[in-house]
Amino acid sequence: MLTSVIGFPRVGSLRELKFATEKYFRHECTEIELRQVAHKLRRAAWQRQREAGITFIPSGDFSFYDGILDTAFLFDLIPARYRELDLSELDRYFAAAHGYQGEKGDVKALPMKKWFNTNYHYIVPEIEDNAHFHLAGHKILTEFAEAQASGILTKPVICGPFTFLHLARYMGRKGVADYIEEAAQAYAELLQNFAKLGAEWVQFDEPFLVHDLSAADIACFTALYEKILAAKGSVKILLQTYFGDIRDIYPTIMAMPFDGVGLDFVEGKQTAALVEQYGFPADKILFAGVVNGKNIWRNHYAKTLKVLQNLQSHGITTVVSTSCSLLHVPYTLAHEQKLPAEVKKHFAFAYEKLTELRELGDLAENPAGEALARNEEIFDGSRYVPDQAVSERVKQIRDEDFTRQPAFAAREKRQHAEFRLPLFPTTTIGSFPQTQEVKAARKKLRTGQISAAQYETFIRDKIQRCIQFQEELGLDVLVHGEYERNDMVEYFGEHLSGYYFTEKAWVQSYGTRCVKPPIIWGDISRKHPITVAWSAYAQSLTDKPVKGMLTGPVTILNWSFPREDISLEAQTRQLALAIRDEVLDLEANGIRIIQIDEAALREKLPLRQSDWYKEYLDWAIPAFRLVHSGVKPETQIHTHMCYSEFTDIIPAIDAMDADVITFEASRSDLQILDALQANHFRTEVGPGVYDIHSPRVPSVEEITEALQKMVEKVDTRKLWVNPDCGLKTRGETEVEQSLQHLVAAAANMRKKYQNKIDTQGQR
Ligand code: GLN
Ligand code: ZN
Repeated sequence: MLTSVIGFPRVGSLRELKFATEKYFRHECTEIELRQVAHKLRRAAWQRQREAGITFIPSGDFSFYDGILDTAFLFDLIPARYRELDLSELDRYFAAAHGYQGEKGDVKALPMKKWFNTNYHYIVPEIEDNAHFHLAGHKILTEFAEAQASGILTKPVICGPFTFLHLARYMGRKGVADYIEEAAQAYAELLQNFAKLGAEWVQFDEPFLVHDLSAADIACFTALYEKILAAKGSVKILLQTYFGDIRDIYPTIMAMPFDGVGLDFVEGKQTAALVEQYGFPADKILFAGVVNGKNIWRNHYAKTLKVLQNLQSHGITTVVSTSCSLLHVPYTLAHEQKLPAEVKKHFAFAYEKLTELRELGDLAENPAGEALARNEEIFDGSRYVPDQAVSERVKQIRDEDFTRQPAFAAREKRQHAEFRLPLFPTTTIGSFPQTQEVKAARKKLRTGQISAAQYETFIRDKIQRCIQFQEELGLDVLVHGEYERNDMVEYFGEHLSGYYFTEKAWVQSYGTRCVKPPIIWGDISRKHPITVAWSAYAQSLTDKPVKGMLTGPVTILNWSFPREDISLEAQTRQLALAIRDEVLDLEANGIRIIQIDEAALREKLPLRQSDWYKEYLDWAIPAFRLVHSGVKPETQIHTHMCYSEFTDIIPAIDAMDADVITFEASRSDLQILDALQANHFRTEVGPGVYDIHSPRVPSVEEITEALQKMVEKVDTRKLWVNPDCGLKTRGETEVEQSLQHLVAAAANMRKKYQNKIDTQGQR
C-alpha cells in the first residue's frame, strides 16, 4: 500500500529555523544565509521521508512564518499598509507576520488565531475591497522545483480556496462570495504552472470542511472546485481534509471528479460510517488518515489494520496517510536521552510515524509481518498502574465543590473594599522577559554548573528587581515575573506526578515560537507546593498586591500530550484537584490575588458547534471552577486567555466565575467588546491594550485611544489595563517603554473619568 504525509514539521529537529530567523530579525545574518538554512531543512525533510519509503511527500509545507500568510502573499492579498512599506519582499512578509517599527514606517502585525483545534496559530489574512485575488507569487512553485532538482518528485500542498476564503477577514463590504470567481481562476492558474513543472499530484488542504456546513457553504465549495477541477489538465487533485469528518458534504464530494480524497479516521468520528453508508467511488483514491498527526502514542497496528482491511475489502484503492500534518508533533525520539526505554517504546514522533506509515502499508498487504508482533507487545496492558489515592479523591468530589460562594456581585463589592484600587487598575499578565541571563541560569542548574541554592539566589534577585521595577513604573497589581519557569505548562507538569518530559521535543506554536508539551503518562497529583515560595517572597517585598500565577487544568491538559486510555474529562479533573491544592496554599500564605491562566481554554472546543457543550464545555468550565471554589470571598481570582475567538463562548467564559479576566484583544481590533456588552458579561475585564507578540512599542496616545474605545463598551469600574499576554518573549527595553506608556495612558484615563464616577475615584 502506498503512503502519504500531509505535511511535515519545518522548524528543524533542533529548531534551526527559529534560531536563524531570530538572528535575521536581529540583523545578525543576511537574507541569503537565512534562505540557505531554510533550503537545507527542506531538503533534509524530503530526504528523510524518501528514505522512510513515503510515496506522497509534501512540498510547499515549509514556511518562514505561517502557511496561510504564505497563501495570502502567493495570491497578492496583502493589505496596503504592508504593500506601501519600502521593504524587501521577505521583510514585508515579516512585517505582516509580526509588525514593523523602524525607519521605513510603523505598522502592526496581522491578527493571529488558533489553527482549528490545535496549538498552532495562523496569521489571519485581511482582504481589502480593492484586493485582486490573482497568482502573484512563486514560493510554492520554486519549492516544488527545488525538490525536483534534488531528485524528489513531491506532492505540492496548498491551503485550498474554500478554507482560505473562510479564514480570511474582510475589511470592507466584500465577502467570501465576491471572491469565488477570482480565487478559482487563480488556483486554476497555479495548477497550470504545476502541470508545466511536471507535478503529478497537488494536495488542496480543506480542513474547513469538517465544520457544520450550510447549504450556502456547500454551494460555495462546489462553485470553487467545479472551475478548478475543469482546469486541472494532467495534474491529479487530492482533496485533503483533517481534524474531523466531513459528514455535511461527503456525498457531494464523492460525486465530483477529485482524483483522491483524504479523510481523517482518527478525529473523524463518522468517517468510517460515511464510507460505509455512501461508499467510495472506484475512480478515486482514498488517502486514509490513520496515523495520528496530533498525539505521540504509538499506533496500535492491529486496530488500524482492521480499518485498512475493511477499506480494501470494499475494493477501495487506499493510501495510508497521517491524519493531519505532522506539524503538530515533535521531530524525533532520537534526541531523547533521558526517557527510559520502557517509556519511549510507547511513543512515536514525526520520524517514527514515517516508519509506522511504511510498516502499516506493508502489513496491509502482508499481515503476517514481524512488525505486527513487535507492535502488539507494546499493547500488552502493562503500561498503566492506577494511583488509588487519586481515584479516591476524584470520587469524593461533591456538587458544591464546583461553585464558589458567595456569588460574583457580593464578592466584587468586598474585593473593591479590600484592595481599594484606583479606576483603570494596571497590571501585567505574569511573565517578564526571559533574557539570555535567565535561560543561562536554568541551563547551568540543569547541567550542574550551579547548585540549587545558587539558582534560588539568582531567581530571588530577579524577583526583587522585578518588584522594584514595577513599583517604579507605578503598576497597581504586581507579579513576580515567572523567572523560574521555562514554560507555563511544562513547569507545572514537572511538579506533578504522572508526567514525563522530553528534552528536544519542540512543536511550533506560531512563527519562531515553539513549545515542548509534556506527556501525561499516568494519574496526576501534586507532590508538593509548586509556586508558593516564589510568590510569598515577592509579596514580602511590597505592600501592593502580588498576583499568584498558576496555569489552569484545561490549559495544562490542552498543552500536554494527553493519555488515550482514559477520557480528557477524567484527566482534567485530576489536574483541577492538583491546582486547587496550590490555590489554597497560596491563599494560606498571604497571596490575595491569584491568576489561573486558561490561555488554551478553547483549544479542544469541538469544531462542530453542535458538540460544544455536551462534548467539552460541560466538563471544562466546571473543572476550572473546581480549582478556585475553595477560596475566601476577598481573594480575587483572575484568569487569562489568548489567541482565540471568544465572542461565541462568552457565556461559558462568564460561567468560569473568575473575578477578573484578561485577554488578547489588540490584534483583533477590540471586536470582542461588542460581544461582551451584548452578553451582559459580569466578570471584570482587562482586554489587552497592546500586542506583546510584536517588538514594537505602543505610544501613550495609541493605548489611550484603545482604552477610550473600551470605556464606550465596558463599565468603567470593571475595566483593567494590561498588555495582551505575558512579556517573556520581549526585550527588557521594549518592555520598560511599553509599560511606561501603559501606566501613563491609564493615568490619562483616570484624570478624565474620575469625576464621572460617583465613588470619589474609588472603584
Ligand atoms: N502568565 C503567563 C505569562 O505571562 C501567560 C502566558 C499565556 O497566556 N500564554 O507568560
Ligand atoms: Zn496569553
